[in-house]
Amino acid sequence: MGRPTGFIEYERKIAPDRTELERIKDWNEFHHHLKEEELRTQGARCMDCGIPFCHSGVLINNMASGCPINNLIPEWNDLVYQGQWREALDRLHKTNNFPEFTGRVCPAPCEGACTVGLNGIPVAIKSIEHAIIDKGFEEGWVVAQPPKIRTGKKVAVVGSGPSGLAAAAQLNKAGHTVTVYERADRVGGLLMYGIPNMKLEKEVVDRRVNLLKEEGVTFITGVEIGKDITADQIKKEFDAMVLCGGATKPRDLPIEGRNLKGVHFAMEFLHANTKALLDDKHAGGNYITAKGKNVIVIGGGDTGTDCVGTSIRHGCNSVTQFELMGKPPEERTPQNPWPQFPRVYKLDYGQEEAKVLYGNDPRTYCISTKRFLGDAEGNITGLVTVEIEWKKDDNGRFGPQEVPGSEKEWKADLVLLAMGFLGPENPMLEQLGVDRDDRSNAKAEHEKYNTNVEGVFAAGDMRRGQSLVVWAINEGRGVAREVDRWLMGSSNLP
Ligand SMILES: Cc1cc2nc3c(=O)[nH]c(=O)nc-3n(C[C@H](O)[C@H](O)[C@H](O)COP(=O)(O)OP(=O)(O)OC[C@H]3O[C@@H](n4cnc5c(N)ncnc54)[C@H](O)[C@@H]3O)c2cc1C
Ligand code: SF4
Repeated sequence: MGRPTGFIEYERKIAPDRTELERIKDWNEFHHHLKEEELRTQGARCMDCGIPFCHSGVLINNMASGCPINNLIPEWNDLVYQGQWREALDRLHKTNNFPEFTGRVCPAPCEGACTVGLNGIPVAIKSIEHAIIDKGFEEGWVVAQPPKIRTGKKVAVVGSGPSGLAAAAQLNKAGHTVTVYERADRVGGLLMYGIPNMKLEKEVVDRRVNLLKEEGVTFITGVEIGKDITADQIKKEFDAMVLCGGATKPRDLPIEGRNLKGVHFAMEFLHANTKALLDDKHAGGNYITAKGKNVIVIGGGDTGTDCVGTSIRHGCNSVTQFELMGKPPEERTPQNPWPQFPRVYKLDYGQEEAKVLYGNDPRTYCISTKRFLGDAEGNITGLVTVEIEWKKDDNGRFGPQEVPGSEKEWKADLVLLAMGFLGPENPMLEQLGVDRDDRSNAKAEHEKYNTNVEGVFAAGDMRRGQSLVVWAINEGRGVAREVDRWLMGSSNLP
C-alpha cells in the first residue's frame, strides 16, 4: 500500500490549471501536472482500504460508482508512491487501453467512491492516472505491440470513437485482422469532433491512432456504412461486425422560431469548430462563429459547457446557459451518499471562464424556452423563457410546472441546443435488421454485446446511449472479448 498514514499526513493536491484569462486566448489544454515528488505524496494518500470501492465500477441509481473499467487504482497509487512509474504504467494498461483520454476527460467516478472521501477529501486518482500515462509517452515506454500470430479472421468495426478504438485494439491484440470504418474525415469519434481541443488536444488522439495503425489496424475514413457501402456488403466480407456508431441523434426543440438563422445543434457548432481549427487554424472561416454575439446555450450538461468554453474562445459578447433542472446542492444530500457519484454543484472549466470574464456562473436553473424571436430577415434576435418549478401535479406525478407570470425575454444572436441525445441516427441498423431497445439503441446485453443478427455485435453509446468515454472503453474491451469467443470458441481477452 501507499504510506499507511499518508491520508492523515498529506492533504489532497491537484495541479493548478492555467488561469482562465490566459487559457481562453488559445485552444490548448489547460491542465498542468504536479511535480514528481508531489505526485508520489498524492499516491501515498491511498489507504489501500481493503475493499477498494474506487475500482468497483458498479451502477447505483444509474450512475457509475467507482471506475467502470476497474482500473487497479490502489496498485498504481502504491507504485507511484514507490517511484516505480514503469510498473505503474503497465498496471494501468492492463485495464485501460487509453489512459491518456480518461486521465484528461473522465469525470472520475472513482474519486466519488474513494474511501478517504468518506470523511475526508479523496485521493487525486485522475491526476495520478494522467501523470502516469503522460510520463509513459515522454519516456518512450508506450510503443506499438503488434500480435505475433494472426488468426486469419477478419473483423469490421464501424465507428472510431473510444468504443470502436478499444474494440479494434483488443481484437487486433487477439490476432484478428481489423478494419475500422469512420464516416468523418478524421478518426476518433467524439474524442476528435465532440470534446474540444482545450480538454483533449487532438495530437493526443492521433498519437494513439498511429500506434494502432503500427500494430496493424486499418482505418478507412470518409465512408458511412449504410450509405456509401451497404451494411450487408460489410457483413458478407467480414467474419464479424462490431457496431460502435455512437448515439449522436440530437434532441431538438421544435418550438416557434426553430428555423431562424442562428439556431444550431451544439454538435454542428463544436464539430465545425474543431475541424476548422485542425484544417487551417480557423483561417478559412468554415465554422459557426460566436464572435461579438450574445450566445445562449440551452442545456446545462457537459456538451453545453463545451459550447460555453468554445464561444468564449471565439470572443462572444456574452454567454448564458439554461438548465431545466434545479441547482444541485453544495454538498451530498442523504439521498446521494458515498460511494455514489456525487451530484453536487461544481463549476466546470467553461463556467469558471465565464465567471472570471463576465462576473458570474453563466447557468440559469429551472428555466424553459417557450419561443425564439427573429427579425424580418429570419435571423434570431432573442427568445422567451418561463421559470419552472419541480413539483407533484394533481395526479401525484413529479415534474416541471411553469410559474405563471414568469415569462422573460432574452437577447440572443446565436442559440446552441445542447439538450442531450436520443440514440443512434443512421440507417445501418435498419439495413442489418438489428433490434432496438425502448430508447432506440441497438439491443444487446451488457457484457454479451451480440445483437439479434448472427455475427453482428454492438457496443458503446450505440448500445447504451450517450454516456462517457470510460464506459465506451469498457464496452469496446468487452465486445472484443465476446467477438473473439464467438470466432474462436474461447477467449483470453479480459
Ligand atoms: C460535446 C461532448 C462532450 C463530451 N465530453 C465528455 C467528457 O468530457 N468526458 C466523457 O467521459 N465523455 C464525454 N462525452 C461523451 C463521450 O464522448 C461519449 O460517450 C463517447 O465518445 C462514446 O464513444 P463511442 O465510441 O460509443 O461513440 P462516438 O464517440 O460517438 O463515436 C462514434 C463514431 O461512429 C461514427 N459513425 C456512426 N455511424 C457510422 C456509420 N454508419 N459508418 C461509419 N461511421 C459511423 C461517427 O462518425 C463517430 O465518429 C461527451 C460527448 C459530447 C457530445
Ligand atoms: S478511468 Fe475515470 S473512473 Fe477510472 S480511474 Fe481513471 S479517472 Fe477514475
